[in-house]
Amino acid sequence: MSQETKYYTCKYCFESFIPKRRRVQKYCSNTCRNKAHHAKKTATTTRETLPEKLENQLAVPTPIKQTVNAADITNAAIGTLAVNTLVNAFTKNENKPATKKDLVEILNALKGRYHIIKNLAPLSDGKKPYYDIVKQELVYLFPFQTTNF
Ligand SMILES: [Zn+2]
Repeated sequence: MSQETKYYTCKYCFESFIPKRRRVQKYCSNTCRNKAHHAKKTATTTRETLPEKLENQLAVPTPIKQTVNAADITNAAIGTLAVNTLVNAFTKNENKPATKKDLVEILNALKGRYHIIKNLAPLSDGKKPYYDIVKQELVYLFPFQTTNF
């Protein structure tokens, strides 16, 4: 294997990138490939319209000094890692079904499941109007009932 990493220049955004596949890869990402595909239909000034000979020259991998790019690549990798970690953290929380314990903790934090609605009159039998944050409904309960989750 060569000591030197071969860089390609994306034909859409002109960024240098390391090809993931062995065969010639024109674009750094599917996004650029798709954008270039759409641009092809309308654009007249992109590199897509350059004569084939010049285009082939551009397709030749350009070796770039490893030392210059190593820092950039590391920063990019750290950035991606940070974002992925955050995304994973949020995804995990959202996908994980709330356990009974979670629910009780949440309800404790919210000071209970039932919240009295002050601008509604109590019923004649003494039940009072509450907002049930679990069912998201108006319920009429006796005050002692609201202590149960
Ligand atoms: Zn690109």
